[in-house]
Amino acid sequence: MASDSIYWNESAAPAHLSAGKALPERIDVAIVGAGYTGLATAIHLARAGRSVAVFDAAEIGHGCSSRNGGMVGPSFHKLGVAGLTSQFGEEKANAIMQEGMNALDYFERFVAEEKLDCDLRMTGRFRGARSIADYDATARECDRLHKAVGLPFEMIVEQNQRAEIGTDFFNGGVVYHRDGGIHPRKLANALAAKAVEAGATLFPSTPVRGLRRNGTETELFCGDRTVTARDVVVATNGYADSRTDAMHQRVVQIRTGAIATEEIPAELMAELTPKGRMFGESARIFMWFRPTPDGKRFIFGGRMGEPGCSPEERAAAIRTAALRIFPQLDSIGVAHVWHGDVAYTPDHSPHLGFEDGVWLAGGYCGSGVTRSLYFAMKLSRRILGETGAETAFDDLPFKTVPFKPFSRKLADLLSRWWAWQDERDLTKRA
Ligand SMILES: Cc1cc2nc3c(=O)[nH]c(=O)nc-3n(C[C@H](O)[C@H](O)[C@H](O)COP(=O)(O)OP(=O)(O)OC[C@H]3O[C@@H](n4cnc5c(N)ncnc54)[C@H](O)[C@@H]3O)c2cc1C
Repeated sequence: MASDSIYWNESAAPAHLSAGKALPERIDVAIVGAGYTGLATAIHLARAGRSVAVFDAAEIGHGCSSRNGGMVGPSFHKLGVAGLTSQFGEEKANAIMQEGMNALDYFERFVAEEKLDCDLRMTGRFRGARSIADYDATARECDRLHKAVGLPFEMIVEQNQRAEIGTDFFNGGVVYHRDGGIHPRKLANALAAKAVEAGATLFPSTPVRGLRRNGTETELFCGDRTVTARDVVVATNGYADSRTDAMHQRVVQIRTGAIATEEIPAELMAELTPKGRMFGESARIFMWFRPTPDGKRFIFGGRMGEPGCSPEERAAAIRTAALRIFPQLDSIGVAHVWHGDVAYTPDHSPHLGFEDGVWLAGGYCGSGVTRSLYFAMKLSRRILGETGAETAFDDLPFKTVPFKPFSRKLADLLSRWWAWQDERDLTKRA
């Protein structure tokens, strides 16, 4: 097994655009973080005539944007319809749910209009129910979503699930017809190429050491140089640390891992995913899984493995979970294992806005592929003073995380508790 190597980078190498350019002294907009959020924001602002520089501490797309599962869909909200309704009332809950559909519509349109080469295929996603109670709860939730925002879905009873997925592990499930998949590294590369084409300059391997507000401008400390910017966008999301403290203080970083298998014989692939769908399941610490865009391997991911575990331990934990669903993969090895740090927020909502003197967009809670491009467009409009910048999240404050120094540890403890509950439920079921 190749240790700690990202499958997506092997099947599409990281872009090396505008590396080696001299740092500017002064710029209209400095963007910290060259993932989907930073790169997409750069495209809009550079096209509007702003001089734009994007800095990344590592290579372009080094963070979650080259490490994710590449699964797209409406990504509604972790609280679900009932949770949102009890917190905000029906109208606001529906508006937040509608943003999920808006983000997906925008994402599909943007990829098509810009001809972004990222293997986008709207294959649909099957989400398996681990129990009959989960199946019933999913049916109720989908019904509400259909009524609220027109979500198309199809409940699949257990007897018919083999037409969707090569397993008997689930008690049926749901097909989300508006879901699909992309190749994450290809999307990062395509956005980087568009940003450069629009006139932005990308600075890989250029960590921003800190920011200092100076009157109406902000100074960015990059190595031994200082860059002065009128506007600063912090797009460091789950990779934020005290150098971009405005983001760091507002998100909880949660580590999540992934594996890619060795190549799988074509007949077995056809059995595992007869319709080439994306997959998920109803557990608290759930696994997501999907075929690679070339249809030759499977990728599995989730928050399995102890915090701080080695790549081998992470691979073993994810493989164990995968074999529960697909015991047919027993003789197929793991070719790649990697991890990434996603950004959660205490209210489970993504946020964008102006905080502590900088523009922020992030906190996508593990569902940032469509949201990041949508938020980049909204944030750009806001910076440019254009109309159409509002979102249903605007009146939810992007609060700092309470007990921030302990937040990662607390999140790990919570994950362990949920994983224990999942195991208990499976034991009961057996
Ligand atoms: C394993 C995994 C699976 C996932 N699967 C999915 C999925 O299937 N669907 C989905 O919708 N979402 C998924 N996500 C989440 C999604 O990938 C992210 O929400 C999204 O990529 C966030 O993009 P971003 O541009 O905001 O941040 P990132 O891509 O994380 O970019 C942040 C960048 O900031 C840079 N940076 C940090 N500090 C500095 C500094 N001081 N100076 C300069 N640069 C700095 C980092 O190097 C990094 O490149 C997954 C994430 C992981 C880890």
